Amino acid sequence: STFQELGLNEDLLNAITDLGFTKPSEVQEKAIPILLEEERDLVALAQTGTGKTAAFGFPMLQKIDVDSRTTQGLILSPTRELCLQIANELKQYGKYCKGLNVVAIYGGASITEQARQVKRGAQIIVATPGRMKDMISRKLVDISKIQYSVLDEADEMLNMGFYEDITDILSHTPDDKSTWLFSATMPKEVATIAKKFMYDPTEITV
Ligand code: AMP
Repeated sequence: STFQELGLNEDLLNAITDLGFTKPSEVQEKAIPILLEEERDLVALAQTGTGKTAAFGFPMLQKIDVDSRTTQGLILSPTRELCLQIANELKQYGKYCKGLNVVAIYGGASITEQARQVKRGAQIIVATPGRMKDMISRKLVDISKIQYSVLDEADEMLNMGFYEDITDILSHTPDDKSTWLFSATMPKEVATIAKKFMYDPTEITV
């Protein structure tokens, strides 16, 4: 299939053309139509390098309201490097989405500067769990209006001991949001998280 057939809008299709992506990857083909058409939870077993960032990124970019400055999408990712990489990819994919503001939040950098960026109005925040929890407790960020949350590399985040932080962060988000979980493996801990925070998720494997 083509990106157009998956239901992506002109702004995204133009960015995809610029990037030279000729056709959707398997995880994109499976995830994008589901995430665009239905407000539901998703568990995707997918390794890095499969194009999973775009698989959740394109639908999120299409669904958020860029005319609003409210934070609507939250992506949790295990490391600073991954956060920056995801934020940069989303900025490229959303280059024609006028008004889009994507902010990366991670430890080891100025919390004041990150708070300043958030305050300007970020529709999407990409964060490591530790710094995110810190910013929530200091009331430097408001995720009470989140509609889409992504747990990226969920197995890695749990391996790194982020279970408590993730639980704490999600407790500050609305119950009626959609949650999209991506993981390379499905150990018991990931299944537990899915059971605890997700409602009847669609499951895909690539
Ligand atoms: P990811 O698995 O999200 O880390 O993506 C791996 C790499 O594949 C990234 O550098 C993307 O820019 C690239 N990529 C994602 N989707 C496609 C696609 N449909 N065609 C070609 N490259 C892609």
